[in-house]
Amino acid sequence: MSVLDIRVLGDPILRKETSPVAAVTDDLRRLIDDMFETMHAARGIGLAAPQVGRLERVAVVDVEGGKQPLALVNPEIVSVEGSAKGEEGCLSIPEVYGDVERSAKVVVRALDRDGRPIEVEGTELLARCLQHEIDHLHGKLFIDYLSVLKRRAALDKWSKQKDQYPGYIRRLTAEDVAEHHRDEEL
Ligand SMILES: [Zn+2]
Repeated sequence: MSVLDIRVLGDPILRKETSPVAAVTDDLRRLIDDMFETMHAARGIGLAAPQVGRLERVAVVDVEGGKQPLALVNPEIVSVEGSAKGEEGCLSIPEVYGDVERSAKVVVRALDRDGRPIEVEGTELLARCLQHEIDHLHGKLFIDYLSVLKRRAALDKWSKQKDQYPGYIRRLTAEDVAEHHRDEEL
Protein backbone atom coordinates (compact mmCIF):
# COMPACT_ATOMS: atom_id res chain seq x y z
CA MET A 1 0.00 0.00 0.00
CA SER A 2 1.14 3.52 -0.51
CA VAL A 3 0.30 6.97 0.72
CA LEU A 4 -0.93 9.15 -2.13
CA ASP A 5 -0.61 12.89 -2.61
CA ILE A 6 -3.72 14.82 -1.63
CA ARG A 7 -5.08 17.44 -4.04
CA VAL A 8 -6.03 20.71 -2.41
CA LEU A 9 -8.52 23.47 -3.17
CA GLY A 10 -7.69 25.03 -6.54
CA ASP A 11 -7.00 21.74 -8.29
CA PRO A 12 -9.74 21.50 -10.93
CA ILE A 13 -10.16 17.76 -10.31
CA LEU A 14 -11.96 18.55 -7.03
CA ARG A 15 -14.75 20.12 -9.10
CA LYS A 16 -15.19 17.26 -11.53
CA GLU A 17 -17.98 14.71 -11.67
CA THR A 18 -16.70 11.17 -11.13
CA SER A 19 -17.55 8.17 -13.31
CA PRO A 20 -19.44 5.19 -11.92
CA VAL A 21 -17.25 2.13 -11.50
CA ALA A 22 -18.24 -0.62 -13.95
CA ALA A 23 -16.51 -3.49 -12.12
CA VAL A 24 -14.58 -3.85 -8.89
CA THR A 25 -11.18 -5.02 -10.10
CA ASP A 26 -7.84 -5.62 -8.39
CA ASP A 27 -6.75 -2.18 -9.62
CA LEU A 28 -9.73 -0.59 -7.93
CA ARG A 29 -9.02 -2.52 -4.72
CA ARG A 30 -5.46 -1.21 -4.81
CA LEU A 31 -6.82 2.34 -5.11
CA ILE A 32 -9.18 1.71 -2.17
CA ASP A 33 -6.33 0.34 -0.01
CA ASP A 34 -4.11 3.30 -0.90
CA MET A 35 -6.94 5.68 -0.06
CA PHE A 36 -7.36 4.09 3.38
CA GLU A 37 -3.62 4.34 3.93
CA THR A 38 -3.60 7.99 2.85
CA MET A 39 -6.64 8.91 4.94
CA HIS A 40 -5.18 7.32 8.05
CA ALA A 41 -1.76 8.94 7.54
CA ALA A 42 -3.51 12.31 7.20
CA ARG A 43 -5.67 11.54 10.26
CA GLY A 44 -8.84 11.99 8.27
CA ILE A 45 -12.18 10.25 8.67
CA GLY A 46 -13.11 10.23 4.99
CA LEU A 47 -11.47 10.54 1.59
CA ALA A 48 -12.91 10.58 -1.92
CA ALA A 49 -11.13 9.61 -5.15
CA PRO A 50 -10.88 13.14 -6.62
CA GLN A 51 -8.88 14.13 -3.53
CA VAL A 52 -6.13 11.79 -4.68
CA GLY A 53 -6.44 12.79 -8.33
CA ARG A 54 -8.74 10.01 -9.50
CA LEU A 55 -12.20 10.11 -11.05
CA GLU A 56 -13.53 6.67 -10.13
CA ARG A 57 -16.70 6.97 -8.02
CA VAL A 58 -15.10 5.68 -4.83
CA ALA A 59 -14.77 6.96 -1.28
CA VAL A 60 -13.47 5.58 2.00
CA VAL A 61 -14.84 6.44 5.43
CA ASP A 62 -13.66 5.55 8.91
CA VAL A 63 -15.19 7.62 11.68
CA GLU A 64 -14.29 5.21 14.48
CA GLY A 65 -10.56 4.81 14.14
CA GLY A 66 -10.51 1.46 12.39
CA LYS A 67 -13.62 -0.07 13.96
CA GLN A 68 -15.87 0.33 10.96
CA PRO A 69 -13.82 1.15 7.86
CA LEU A 70 -16.12 1.53 4.88
CA ALA A 71 -15.14 1.33 1.25
CA LEU A 72 -17.92 2.81 -0.85
CA VAL A 73 -18.04 2.13 -4.57
CA ASN A 74 -20.73 4.03 -6.53
CA PRO A 75 -22.38 5.25 -3.29
CA GLU A 76 -25.82 6.77 -3.51
CA ILE A 77 -27.97 8.35 -0.84
CA VAL A 78 -31.32 6.59 -0.94
CA SER A 79 -33.04 8.27 1.98
CA VAL A 80 -32.54 11.17 4.35
CA GLU A 81 -34.12 12.30 7.58
CA GLY A 82 -34.01 15.45 9.69
CA SER A 83 -31.24 17.98 9.71
CA ALA A 84 -28.28 18.86 11.88
CA LYS A 85 -25.63 21.53 11.92
CA GLY A 86 -22.03 20.67 12.68
CA GLU A 87 -18.47 21.76 12.03
CA GLU A 88 -16.63 20.30 9.06
CA GLY A 89 -13.15 20.38 7.69
CA CYS A 90 -11.62 18.71 4.66
CA LEU A 91 -8.26 17.08 3.93
CA SER A 92 -8.24 19.12 0.71
CA ILE A 93 -8.71 22.45 2.52
CA PRO A 94 -6.38 22.10 5.54
CA GLU A 95 -6.96 24.36 8.55
CA VAL A 96 -10.29 25.66 7.27
CA TYR A 97 -13.47 24.78 9.13
CA GLY A 98 -17.11 25.77 8.92
CA ASP A 99 -20.57 24.83 10.15
CA VAL A 100 -22.64 22.94 7.62
CA GLU A 101 -26.28 21.94 7.77
CA ARG A 102 -26.72 18.32 6.68
CA SER A 103 -29.33 15.59 6.92
CA ALA A 104 -29.23 14.08 10.41
CA LYS A 105 -29.64 10.54 9.14
CA VAL A 106 -28.89 9.01 5.76
CA VAL A 107 -29.10 5.62 4.17
CA VAL A 108 -26.47 4.94 1.52
CA ARG A 109 -26.33 2.12 -0.99
CA ALA A 110 -23.01 1.18 -2.51
CA LEU A 111 -20.77 -1.71 -3.44
CA ASP A 112 -18.07 -2.78 -1.02
CA ARG A 113 -14.39 -3.62 -1.67
CA ASP A 114 -15.48 -7.01 -3.01
CA GLY A 115 -18.15 -5.59 -5.27
CA ARG A 116 -21.01 -6.77 -3.04
CA PRO A 117 -24.02 -4.49 -2.52
CA ILE A 118 -24.18 -2.91 0.92
CA GLU A 119 -26.53 -0.55 2.68
CA VAL A 120 -25.14 1.76 5.34
CA GLU A 121 -27.27 3.72 7.76
CA GLY A 122 -25.53 6.67 9.34
CA THR A 123 -26.41 9.17 12.02
CA GLU A 124 -24.32 11.90 13.68
CA LEU A 125 -20.70 11.98 12.48
CA LEU A 126 -21.13 9.05 10.10
CA ALA A 127 -24.13 10.72 8.43
CA ARG A 128 -22.14 13.93 8.03
CA CYS A 129 -19.09 12.16 6.70
CA LEU A 130 -21.07 10.09 4.18
CA GLN A 131 -22.72 13.24 2.79
CA HIS A 132 -19.40 15.11 2.67
CA GLU A 133 -17.65 12.30 0.76
CA ILE A 134 -20.53 11.68 -1.65
CA ASP A 135 -20.52 15.43 -2.38
CA HIS A 136 -16.84 15.11 -3.33
CA LEU A 137 -17.80 12.49 -5.92
CA HIS A 138 -19.98 15.14 -7.57
CA GLY A 139 -17.50 18.02 -7.44
CA LYS A 140 -18.99 19.62 -4.38
CA LEU A 141 -17.08 20.91 -1.32
CA PHE A 142 -18.27 21.81 2.17
CA ILE A 143 -17.35 25.47 1.67
CA ASP A 144 -20.08 25.65 -0.98
CA TYR A 145 -22.65 25.51 1.83
CA LEU A 146 -21.24 28.44 3.80
CA SER A 147 -22.89 31.84 3.72
CA VAL A 148 -21.23 34.42 1.46
CA LEU A 149 -19.48 36.06 4.41
CA LYS A 150 -18.31 32.83 6.00
CA ARG A 151 -17.12 31.50 2.68
CA ARG A 152 -15.16 34.68 2.08
CA ALA A 153 -13.52 34.35 5.51
CA ALA A 154 -12.69 30.70 4.81
CA LEU A 155 -11.19 31.53 1.41
CA ASP A 156 -9.16 34.39 2.94
CA LYS A 157 -7.74 31.99 5.46
CA TRP A 158 -7.01 29.50 2.71
CA SER A 159 -5.32 32.08 0.47
CA LYS A 160 -2.80 32.82 3.21
CA GLN A 161 -1.61 29.24 3.31
CA LYS A 162 -2.20 27.82 -0.13
CA ASP A 163 1.39 28.63 -1.16
CA GLN A 164 2.46 25.73 1.05
CA TYR A 165 0.95 23.43 -1.57
CA PRO A 166 2.70 24.03 -4.91
CA GLY A 167 0.77 22.51 -7.79
CA TYR A 168 -2.22 22.10 -5.45
CA ILE A 169 -0.55 19.06 -3.97
CA ARG A 170 -0.40 18.23 -0.29
CA ARG A 171 2.36 15.72 0.18
CA LEU A 172 2.21 13.97 3.52
CA THR A 173 5.57 14.05 5.23
CA ALA A 174 7.60 10.97 6.04
CA GLU A 175 6.86 11.83 9.67
CA ASP A 176 3.08 11.69 9.15
CA VAL A 177 3.45 8.31 7.51
CA ALA A 178 5.88 6.93 10.11
CA GLU A 179 3.69 8.07 12.98
CA HIS A 180 0.69 6.43 11.36
CA HIS A 181 2.60 3.14 11.11
CA ARG A 182 3.67 3.46 14.72
CA ASP A 183 0.00 3.94 15.70
CA GLU A 184 -0.90 0.80 13.84
CA GLU A 185 1.56 -1.26 15.81
CA LEU A 186 -0.25 -0.58 19.07
ZN1 LIG B 1 -13.41 16.67 2.06
